[in-house]
Amino acid sequence: CGIVAYIGHREACPIIIKGLRRLEYRGYDSAGVALLNGQLSVYKKKGKVAELEAFISDKDTHANIGMGHTRWATHGEPNDVNAHPHYSTSERIAIIHNGIIENYAALKTHLQQQGHEFHSDTDTEVFVNLIEEIQKQNHCTLEEAVRLALHEVVGAYAIVVLSKDEPGQLIAARKGSPLVIGVGQDEFFLASDATPIIEYTNEVVYVNDYEIAVIKDGKLDIRTKEDVQQTPYIQKLEMEL
Ligand code: GLU
Repeated sequence: CGIVAYIGHREACPIIIKGLRRLEYRGYDSAGVALLNGQLSVYKKKGKVAELEAFISDKDTHANIGMGHTRWATHGEPNDVNAHPHYSTSERIAIIHNGIIENYAALKTHLQQQGHEFHSDTDTEVFVNLIEEIQKQNHCTLEEAVRLALHEVVGAYAIVVLSKDEPGQLIAARKGSPLVIGVGQDEFFLASDATPIIEYTNEVVYVNDYEIAVIKDGKLDIRTKEDVQQTPYIQKLEMEL
């Protein structure tokens, strides 16, 4: 169960795959990536990061924004479909998630009544459809939809969300599950812990519970779920490589 994401000027996919390997020690049963480059592409596989790498070796993985996940199944058996990232019904939004959404069953029933389709058995797929539904109903930005969704989910999460409709942006949030942001020169790294980040930058921001981080136009904006802007506290890490 690990998260890695990148937004900047470099190729995202190799950074993400390398980061997922660094998080392998946390244990996992499947792995996947989502890449945003005009298209929003999701590739995922049961098994080792090496199997995901083999699977994507003949795919077009060119992108400067992306996210990757290693899953430790809690809801739904380990298989390709239940692996993350998960799309919303329209396939315009994708999410990765570590943690458990406790009220997913009630949310799922409600979302099904509103026409959302589910392909996996995960609690995570409910989260991304909730964001989509909120955005549709409120005609709001993805950031606002994520913020409102945090008021409806019960449980633990570290999430990263990408949308095809707001292509230069990466949104993350947490409650209970760890999330660290690496601050580089016009580039940002996100991960469950600093090990995938430290080779690129030693400046990190630890996201607090109930905070939402929005990264776009080379800037990091952190707000509480009550929409109160926070001043990111940048720490300097001293770690052996
Ligand atoms: N609850 C989610 C799932 O079962 C995420 C598990 C994790 O933390 O990797 O897919």
